[in-house]
Amino acid sequence: MKVEKKFALIKENIESACKRANRKPEDVTVVAVTKYVSTERAIEAFNAGIEHFGENREEGLTSKWEILEGRPIWHFIGTLQSRKVKNIIDKVTYIHSLDRLSLAKEIQRRAKTRIKCFVQVNVSGEDTKHGINPDEVIPFIRQLDSYTNIQIVGLMTMAPNTSDEDALRNCFRSLKEIQEEVKKINLDYAPCNELSMGMSNDYMIAIEEGATFVRIGTALVGE
Ligand SMILES: *Cc1c(COP(=O)(O)O)cnc(C)c1O
Repeated sequence: MKVEKKFALIKENIESACKRANRKPEDVTVVAVTKYVSTERAIEAFNAGIEHFGENREEGLTSKWEILEGRPIWHFIGTLQSRKVKNIIDKVTYIHSLDRLSLAKEIQRRAKTRIKCFVQVNVSGEDTKHGINPDEVIPFIRQLDSYTNIQIVGLMTMAPNTSDEDALRNCFRSLKEIQEEVKKINLDYAPCNELSMGMSNDYMIAIEEGATFVRIGTALVGE
């Protein structure tokens, strides 16, 4: 199916989810995750009007960034090795996977502009998942006060790999609660107004629970 058609369907779903949650569709940004697809498919997505793109590897980001001449807004969404920061930092506006101080240090050192970062939180507590434990989010963010090249725009999580709707909802709800706690401490470098949560299988639930960025791969650009 053409990306244009899939995008239209997803926009309809977003509208319904927003209606159920009494939210505005404009407050939800779709990030097209192009990690599994060809550069041609990414171009098709760009031509279909998608403005935000996400990649989880340096190679995928660099090749698509070059072809699209940096026109879309790029998000780095995957585990980020510190040694790769220098290769991606000039290409991305957002990093969704800030999960340790050593990575923050490298971003601070290499960035030429202020990077919008999400702190990745391991809400579900699964060992296989990256991210900071919920209890450590505020202490971690407090440590970033001298990191002038980092703005904490929000929190990100990967939900458990399950179709259990309650488990997914609980995960998203917990991230929202942690966000409220961060907002309460009112740090100028951590407005934390955004929530990056929801992928192909669970983005509607995530939106009902407050997602402002949904990261959609398969359902949007999958071939
Ligand atoms: C791959 C990936 C996605 C998109 O996954 P889909 O299930 O294909 O929508 C979202 N977020 C992250 C961090 C990913 O690695």
